[in-house]
Amino acid sequence: MSETREAVAQDDAARQDKLYRIRHSTAHIMAEAVLRIFPDAKFAIGPPIDNGFYYDFDLSRSLKPEDLTEIEKIMKQIVKEDHPFEKRVISRDEAKERFQGQPYKLELIDAIPPGDEVSLYTQSAFTDLCRGPHVDNTRRIHPNAFKLLSIAGAYWRGDEKRPMLQRIYGTAWEKPEQLKAYLDHLADVERRDHRKLGKELDLFSIHEEAGPGLIYWHPKGARIRVAIEDFWRQAHLAGGYDIVYSPHIGRSWLWETSGHLVNYKDIMYSPMEVDEQDYYVKPMNCPFHILMYKTQTRSYRDLPLRWSELGTVYRYERSGVLHGLLRVRGFTQDDAHIFCTPDQVEEEILEVLRFSLRIWRAFGFSDIKAYLATRPEKAIGEPERWESAIAVLRRAIEAEGLEYEVDEGGGAFYGPKIDLKIRDALGREWQMTTVQFDWNLPERFDMTFVDSDGKEKRPYMVHRALLGSIERFFGVLIEHFGGAFPVWLAPVQAVVIPVAPAFHDYAAAVAKSLSSKGFRVEADLSDNRMNAKIRSAQTQKIPYMLIVGGNEQDAGQVSVRTRNGDQMNGLPQEEFAALLDEKVKSRADV
Ligand SMILES: [Zn+2]
Ligand SMILES: [Zn+2]
Repeated sequence: MSETREAVAQDDAARQDKLYRIRHSTAHIMAEAVLRIFPDAKFAIGPPIDNGFYYDFDLSRSLKPEDLTEIEKIMKQIVKEDHPFEKRVISRDEAKERFQGQPYKLELIDAIPPGDEVSLYTQSAFTDLCRGPHVDNTRRIHPNAFKLLSIAGAYWRGDEKRPMLQRIYGTAWEKPEQLKAYLDHLADVERRDHRKLGKELDLFSIHEEAGPGLIYWHPKGARIRVAIEDFWRQAHLAGGYDIVYSPHIGRSWLWETSGHLVNYKDIMYSPMEVDEQDYYVKPMNCPFHILMYKTQTRSYRDLPLRWSELGTVYRYERSGVLHGLLRVRGFTQDDAHIFCTPDQVEEEILEVLRFSLRIWRAFGFSDIKAYLATRPEKAIGEPERWESAIAVLRRAIEAEGLEYEVDEGGGAFYGPKIDLKIRDALGREWQMTTVQFDWNLPERFDMTFVDSDGKEKRPYMVHRALLGSIERFFGVLIEHFGGAFPVWLAPVQAVVIPVAPAFHDYAAAVAKSLSSKGFRVEADLSDNRMNAKIRSAQTQKIPYMLIVGGNEQDAGQVSVRTRNGDQMNGLPQEEFAALLDEKVKSRADV
C-alpha cells in the first residue's frame, strides 16, 4: 500500500472506531433513559451495529411509538448533563452481586470465559456489564445526531424457546448532517421497496394462504419478465449456449445419486408418492442436464457443451426469513452448465465472466465486484486441482479488470467459485452471479468423454447462474429503478391521453398502430379528466404520455410528454415510433 493509501485507511479505521464508540455509548444512554421510565426494566444486550445500535429490554408492558419520543427526549437531557463514562474492573462475584435481579446480565456474566476480565461502564445513574470502548463523556454525543428508529421483538440469544424481549433500534452519527443524509437514504429505501412498488404498479403478489414464498406474476410484472427472458434467450443463443428444458420432478434415485438427499434434504420439499415411488420437486436443475449429457458417448470434439435453462426450482426456507421477491421458496434460476475438457476450462471461465458482465451492463449495472471462494477444510479433489482452478478463476477476474476479494476457505466442498456482487442505485451490494466448479457430480454420475488419446476421461463441469433467480433479480431491478423502468423493460411504454372524449377514436388508433409495431402502448379512454389521466400515468411511471387533441388528430401527430417532464409537441406518429424503437434498442431511459 502506498503511504497516502495507508494514511487514508488509518483515517478510515479511526473514523469507524469513533462511530463505534458513539453508537455503543448512545445505546447505553438509551438504556439509562429506559431505566428512568421503567425502573424495573431488565436489561439484555445493547451493541453497536452498522449505522447505529440496538438494546434489548424485558419490560412490564409493550412499547408504543410514543415511548420512543419520550425516551429520545430523556436521552438528549442525559447527553447535556455532561456525565463521564467510567470503566471499572471487578471480580466475578462482585459482578453477580451487583446485577442481582438482572437475570440476563447474570447469564452473560456466567458466559464470560474464565480468565477474561469482568468490567463495568457507568455513566450517570446507569451501569452496564460491558467491555467498551466508549466515548469519554456523554457530551461527545451530539444531541441532534441520533434518532430512535423502531421497535421489534427479539428472542433472548436468538432462541425461540427463550423469552421474547423488546428491541429498540436507533441510529447515531458524529454530526447532524450525517444523520439527515442517513434518514434520507432510509426514506429512499422505503420509497423504492419492491413489495410496496409491486403493489402500486400491479406487478406481482404473494398469497400466504396458498403457500408462502411463492410469487404470482401479474400481467404488468409478466411483461417485464418476458422482456428479460427474451433478451436472456437471445443473448445466450448468440453467446454460444444451447437452451434446454427439464422436468420439475424426479424420482428419489436421481437425488440419491446426485447426493441431494444426503446434503440438501432439509431444503427439499417433502416427496410425493406415485406408483409407490418417491418423487421430489427439484431444488436444482443440474442432475437433469447430466442425464441428457449421458444419453450419448461424448468425444472431446463435442465439447464444450453449454446448456442453459430457465429452470424453476423449489427450496424450503423457514417462513421467518421469507422476504417479498428477495427470499422465496419457488424461483426460476437462469441456470447453465458447461461441460468441457480440462484444457478448455480456462477459456470457458473467461468467457462466462465476459458474458456475465455484458449482461449486467445491458441491465444498467456497471459497479460490479468479484469474490473468489477458495478451498474449505473439508473438500474433495486433489489440492493441485484446486490450486489450478483457483488460478484460472483469478486470471479471469484480473483479465476483466474486476475489483475482487478472496474469501479464503469459502468454497463449497466440491469446487471453488466466483460470486459477482452488483451495486444498485442506492449503493447497496447484491450477490447475484455464481460461477462454480464441480468435481462432485461428474464423479457421482460417472460422466465421461473420450479424449484425443482414445481414453475415457472425466469432463469438467461448471455451474453458472447469472442473474441468480428471475424473482430475486426482479426485486433488485424494481428497487434499483424505483419502479421507473428503462423503456425496453417498462410494462407500458407509452399511454395515449385524449384531451377530450371527441378524440377517443384517434387516441385508440394511435395506440393500435404503435402496438401493431410491437410496442407496449395503451390508450386511456376512461371518464377521468385529462389531468387525472396524466397524474395516473405519472404514478405508474410510464415513460411516455402521448397527448392528443384536434391539432394532433388533423396532422396525424402526437404531443409527447416524458415521465421526467420533458415535452415534444407535434411529433409525427412515425417519428415517435422511431424514437421509441431507438430507446428500446439502446436500452435507454426516456
Ligand atoms: Zn456496552
Ligand atoms: Zn447446477
